[in-house]
Amino acid sequence: MDTEPLRVAVIGSGPAGIYAADALTRQHRVPVRVDVMDRLPTPYGLVRYGVAPDHTRIKGVARALSKVLEHPHVRFVGGVEFGATLTRAHLARTHHAVVYATGASVDRRLGVPGEDLPGSVAATDFVNWYCGHPDSELERFVLGAEEVAVVGAGNVALDVARILVKTADELRHTDIPQPVLEALAASRVRTVHLLARRGPLQAKFTAPELRDLLALPDVDVVVPADQVAIDPADVGGPAPELHQVARAARTNLRLLSEQARRAPRGCRRRVRLHFWVRPEEILGTDRVTGVRLERTRLEPDGHLVGTGETEVLDAGMVLRSVGYAGVPLPGVPFDPVERTVPQEEGRVLDPSGRPVRGDYVAGWLKRGATGVIGTNKSDAAGTVRSLLDDAPALRSAVPAPVPLETVLDELGIAHSGYGDWLRIDSAEAEQAEELDRGERVKLHGWRAYRDVIEGD
Ligand code: NAP
Repeated sequence: MDTEPLRVAVIGSGPAGIYAADALTRQHRVPVRVDVMDRLPTPYGLVRYGVAPDHTRIKGVARALSKVLEHPHVRFVGGVEFGATLTRAHLARTHHAVVYATGASVDRRLGVPGEDLPGSVAATDFVNWYCGHPDSELERFVLGAEEVAVVGAGNVALDVARILVKTADELRHTDIPQPVLEALAASRVRTVHLLARRGPLQAKFTAPELRDLLALPDVDVVVPADQVAIDPADVGGPAPELHQVARAARTNLRLLSEQARRAPRGCRRRVRLHFWVRPEEILGTDRVTGVRLERTRLEPDGHLVGTGETEVLDAGMVLRSVGYAGVPLPGVPFDPVERTVPQEEGRVLDPSGRPVRGDYVAGWLKRGATGVIGTNKSDAAGTVRSLLDDAPALRSAVPAPVPLETVLDELGIAHSGYGDWLRIDSAEAEQAEELDRGERVKLHGWRAYRDVIEGD
């Protein structure tokens, strides 16, 4: 057996990238060395910058991911943006294979007039803000509107709705950056309208997240009873027997029906669910004042259509939460419709459908923004199986790889390492102690990260 290790670059240190590194180091077929690179000096991608701050159990996944980065054959290389100065051609000198795992970091568009008015915001923007992403400005949100419309019925929509209606006291022990917590404490939001274009049986949110919302002590969740009554139109066919409906949808329906029977408790804030509506236009001149909604229904063949009946909902802010999309990477094939990298069993395919030697893809960039964090484990393992099968050909294509540092130095790219991240990690724990707030309070912004890394 050739004992010279196979050198693999993983681009992106979110769950997909780290699970790929994990799968590479857990096997004994091929000796490997893995460089996990990230644009940011902080690892964990969406676990750090996407999972809601009050979902501490899910965020706990970071502990398992840290074990992978601490493996002796894995190295975290932060502050390196693939495709900016460092290109695929450079990595062809340093690594036998590259696994792209940069996820889906931008919002899908609604495609309706008024979408870009001030006050109409992509949920990704709002999530980046409350998660303390360094690209997001702290002053980005002043929550001055009393009525907010959230478009979409996925788990991200429930996350943003929940963060908007929780009290600052309930969020105090999370890792939310202090200025964001202060902005949330000063929020004037009273009602969050959740707008679903289909019915309760088709909602994408899952029962645990729905239960979280329903359990909030100081929030009335208003579910109009007529919208959770089973209707043949809900499934676009004959009236469904409940046992024919997927179990998850059935649980959602049960929770929603129970909630519909509860009388509002006169809470300070409320979340109002609206099913069977889609935005036709976001209204306003200088900024958002409302949304014109069209009522919808399903055709017998399952197609969603507008009924032509419209209504106006007043709202001073619209959060568009209709899914995430991948961003093309320079020099890497990309499907602009699916917003993913074309692939077969994790091997990147060129426009003629042939595998690109040495290029692999994992996670949301491979399959789209679906599934939970754990889904990325089996997904990445599949990609790594293909990569290992290709190992002999990969080795012969790059017989004498040069160290990554050599190329980064040649290009003048300053980078950070796992030790630098641990310094940021400690500074965040210290900040939490100073503020008497839980285990961690996130530092915010590139400057704050740099100061810690440079020891200021
Ligand atoms: P998602 O689950 O795909 O939900 C997107 C929602 O937007 C759906 O309700 C969809 O309706 C709606 N939508 C799409 N286009 C629309 C349009 N033009 N007009 C109106 N509505 C539209 O996406 P997501 O909420 O961003 O979540 C992404 C992934 O992350 C999911 O797999 C999710 O489960 C996961 N996630 C998990 C958690 C958790 O486990 N706690 C938290 C956050 C995110 P249709 O169904 O009709 O298309």
